[in-house]
Amino acid sequence: MTVPDDAGPIVVQKYGGTSVATAERIRAIAERVARARDDSPRLVVVLSAMGKTTDGLVALAHEVSDDPRGREMDLLLATGEQVSVSLLGLALQHKGIPVISLTASQCGIRTDDAFNIARIESIDTRRILAELDRKRVVIITGFQGMTRDHEVTTLGRGGSDITGAAVAAALGASVCEICTDVDGVLSADPRKVPHAMQWREISYEEAIEMASSGAKVLHPRAAEVCMAYRIPIHVRSSFHDGEGTWIRRGDEMVMEQAAVVGVSSDRKIAKVTLIDVPDRPGLAAEVFRDLAARAISVRLVIQGASAAGLGRITFVLDDEYVEGATRLVDDWKSRGLATAGIVDREVAKISIVGSRLASTPGLAARMFAVLAREGINIDCISSSEMKIACVIADAHVDEAVRAVHDEFFPEGTAPQAERATR
Ligand code: ASP
Ligand code: MG
Repeated sequence: MTVPDDAGPIVVQKYGGTSVATAERIRAIAERVARARDDSPRLVVVLSAMGKTTDGLVALAHEVSDDPRGREMDLLLATGEQVSVSLLGLALQHKGIPVISLTASQCGIRTDDAFNIARIESIDTRRILAELDRKRVVIITGFQGMTRDHEVTTLGRGGSDITGAAVAAALGASVCEICTDVDGVLSADPRKVPHAMQWREISYEEAIEMASSGAKVLHPRAAEVCMAYRIPIHVRSSFHDGEGTWIRRGDEMVMEQAAVVGVSSDRKIAKVTLIDVPDRPGLAAEVFRDLAARAISVRLVIQGASAAGLGRITFVLDDEYVEGATRLVDDWKSRGLATAGIVDREVAKISIVGSRLASTPGLAARMFAVLAREGINIDCISSSEMKIACVIADAHVDEAVRAVHDEFFPEGTAPQAERATR
């Protein structure tokens, strides 16, 4: 990656779909970008597609094919971001601001060739830097890239955050701003918990765990990239100038970290239970090799102790893999690996996240006690250094989030007043 020159710090701002959903919103973002440029003349803006554009393109693809994917799918999906960047370019041009909008291939965002879920390999920053030197605001399509063979790729849903982070990293930006429709990183989804607390700052690790356990505020891969390149992330509203949340290294934060920073949930999961699995070596290996061969990633595995030579294997996976897993279950039955397999989509996961979970005794007990008091049955439990997750019935997940949040963040108190705002 090319090292930037000394012409002043570079700021990267990424705006999500809601922020550019209509022509009116795009004009408002143009205003905002114009103001940001007064403070930070070297400004790069990364955009998502307008509103639900990408969902609409996916739906269209399903109208013409049962299994839309691969190269053609990416060429289609990448059109959404081309619309939003060029419109913002026109809006800024209209205001007399020097600007250039670029697709990922025009500005050298090179990915591998895993269509639909590509990874950024490198960014050739020469074009971006040259445009900044010409005093232009550079607007870049999020979510997409180009392979060595000039094929268009996309990075996976929600991938514009990754583009923002990778561009910030390649340019050595002073900050990667994630401008969005929430005010910052909160202790829970404010639509479920209206009195959720907003953090002034959290660590990269906390942000990654929260994002991967269902908090929608930012893509976990974006936080990973910024962590690796030590680029601070500033999550803030694109609708007002509130202070938002800084994501940075834990050791750069002033206050001691709270034990629990967030309660999050994910409904887009399903649970598969294999019944009467013969108790012999190599069986789990066989099951998981088959899953891996179909590129199905599993979030949580539980194998119960067996009785009378037969056991049970349960695993939790993302909704999108259910069809593939159901086909495998039939296959396993016919191969005698299980007598039955139950695929349950009516499940959801609730997690508590925090850097000090492992070293703070009693947090798991409190979480389980709250669920018990609410009469909510826990199906499976998993825990790691930074997360305790419970699989429960889909129907109870919102009340579970409210109850668990109230336990760790009682309404009316701000336990980390220096770190959080209400
Ligand atoms: N437009 C893409 C999507 O909807 C990428 C993004 O919004 O980050 O997934
Ligand atoms: Mg579900």
